[in-house]
Amino acid sequence: MEDNRKVHHLLLFPSFSAVEELEELFSSKTEDLKREGRPHVDLSPPEVAEAALSVGCLVGPSHAFTPWTSMYKEFNSLKECYADLADRIVFLELGLSADTYMADRISELSRLTFLSNSDSHSPWPERLGREFNRFGIEEPTFEEVRRALERRGGRCVLLNVGFDPRLGKYHRTACSRCFKQFGLERAKELGWRCNDCGGWIKKGVWDRVNELADLPEPLSPPHRPPYLRVAPLAEILALGMGAEVRDPRVRESWRKLVERFGSEIEVLVDAPPEEIGEVVGRELSELILAFRKQELKVFPGGGGRYGRLELPPHLSKKMGQRTLGDFT
Ligand SMILES: [Zn+2]
Ligand SMILES: [Zn+2]
Repeated sequence: MEDNRKVHHLLLFPSFSAVEELEELFSSKTEDLKREGRPHVDLSPPEVAEAALSVGCLVGPSHAFTPWTSMYKEFNSLKECYADLADRIVFLELGLSADTYMADRISELSRLTFLSNSDSHSPWPERLGREFNRFGIEEPTFEEVRRALERRGGRCVLLNVGFDPRLGKYHRTACSRCFKQFGLERAKELGWRCNDCGGWIKKGVWDRVNELADLPEPLSPPHRPPYLRVAPLAEILALGMGAEVRDPRVRESWRKLVERFGSEIEVLVDAPPEEIGEVVGRELSELILAFRKQELKVFPGGGGRYGRLELPPHLSKKMGQRTLGDFT
């Protein structure tokens, strides 16, 4: 949900009747509740939070650091955003361009539970589940999820799985038209206008976190689960095959691997390389192994363009020098 400061909030509803109650509360403040996946309401952040909490929702900031529509693009603290209700915010969504280790340099966030969600707006199914959270709960109900986010009764988030933040669209400060990247000081000198094309420069999550950080190094509290950095399997296969991610050959290899091993994460993290090789050939299995060893190079994203994976030198000789196009 978007508020009157263009800050996005994530609302988790306990029931469909709570959805209807909130619709009622917001009816005079919005025109697009019935037709938008992410409706705009003419209310301040504390007013959104108050209404959401009053019908039993959980509420927190979405993709908290991004430069267009997030809490930290507009405010410098949780308290500034949610005022007296800040204490009732129990989670924060990291967004694709940030991870736990970046966010844990901001000490006001240490009591919050982090969520790594896919934020999947486009019609492309491969974007679903590109990030996810592993919950330690008894059964998949709202109440159990609430306990996990509040870390009560032994329930918790066990693992955050998300992009290497450099692959996100807003990791580095960059022009939103031609995607040229800038250091923070240079962007300020230029008045946030690109000196090549005149487009607006958007502050990257990397620079924004550096501005907000009160800790020089990440300091994760004891309750913080590990964050596993991943990249979409289809992107890795496309890189190895020198093809676009939606190329039928890439889709076919993706499908075969997921069918054989059960899930994309199983292929990316656990499946034995020899068995991967049996399904898609040795070259691609070596590439997946290189990904696991973090040997793939990453050219960071910025300005609205995703980061890119690049082949490490020992594989680019074998596979020919290919680079991956945009993750459009
Ligand atoms: Zn959003
Ligand atoms: Zn530009």
